[in-house]
Amino acid sequence: QVVCVTGASGYIASWLVKFLLQRGYTVNATVRDPNNPKKVDHLVKLDGAKERLHLFKADLLEEGSFDSAVQGCQAVFHTASPFFIGAKDPQAELLDPAVKGTLNVLKSCSKSATLKRVVVTSSVAAVANNDRPKAPDVVVDETWFSDPEFCRKNGGWYDLSKTLAEETAWKFAKENNIDLVTINPALVSGPLLQPELNTSAAAVLNFVNGSPTFKNITLGWIDVRDVANAHILAYENASANGRYILVERVIHHSQAVQILRDIYPTLPLPDKCVEDKPYPPVFQVSKERAKSLGLEFTPLEVSLKDTVESLREKGFVKF
Ligand code: NDP
Repeated sequence: QVVCVTGASGYIASWLVKFLLQRGYTVNATVRDPNNPKKVDHLVKLDGAKERLHLFKADLLEEGSFDSAVQGCQAVFHTASPFFIGAKDPQAELLDPAVKGTLNVLKSCSKSATLKRVVVTSSVAAVANNDRPKAPDVVVDETWFSDPEFCRKNGGWYDLSKTLAEETAWKFAKENNIDLVTINPALVSGPLLQPELNTSAAAVLNFVNGSPTFKNITLGWIDVRDVANAHILAYENASANGRYILVERVIHHSQAVQILRDIYPTLPLPDKCVEDKPYPPVFQVSKERAKSLGLEFTPLEVSLKDTVESLREKGFVKF
């Protein structure tokens, strides 16, 4: 079977490509710059890549860019979307590539006669950013949708980009009869295959690079290998449908630091919160739908340790 992965050089997509090749798929992998070794060297070295990996140049903002990569595929995994904090021009840097890019990819999909399903990498950012109270007895599940106004008011441009992109995807899929499934992961940790630091791995790096403080935030976490596997299960499982939230555990950053302290007792880790305010409460997130795909969750302790070891191996941190 031939499948397409958009944004193949990214953190999550690299694991997805690796697992797809392992399972015998032929992979049409789109990247913005196939001549940049930092974006493709780690992909072409994967087992099976020589025989079954094909690189395509495609940009989210270019109309028709994905047509050739999608042509002849049974599945499209649309992972490409900018993920970074501190955009100067959020419309151009985050919202347009996320929303117009999703539309662009889905338009290519709608022209395909071979396509069975599209799996879009959405996010918990498109689920939980709303006015509904969070508390230890509250269970967030797939019926929750983020509120674009809430994202706008709270300055969450990335969150807004994911919320609008997912809305756009569902609308276009419905109107064009595309079998769509979304994967909605929390903050992703776990080892890096790519040489460049991505935003969520940077969040783990911030715990171990000598910073004296941790942020006052409460977040869900999920391992990158589980995220990649969930994409494949969502395609291979014929009855999969709708959205699948992926969260192993929701914790405050102080608890993430404690997990790392237990693993690395001698490492200097941040020992105080950056602000003197109450911690945002933890809440629960339903695992039911993800488990129904057959997904098993990597414990956060393992995932965080593997992230730190990977960051150390790649020279992002020395100790
Ligand atoms: P990365 O930054 O590692 O990957 C993002 C990918 O998007 C890169 O391959 C990048 O391509 C591509 N991309 C960005 N802008 C464009 C563009 N204009 N045209 C084509 N490609 C573009 O991030 P992740 O692997 O973490 O994220 C992958 C997906 O997962 C995203 O959709 C993200 O929103 C989602 N996600 C991530 C989470 C996380 O914690 N990591 C949590 C929940 C969801 P290039 O290499 O050319 O720059």
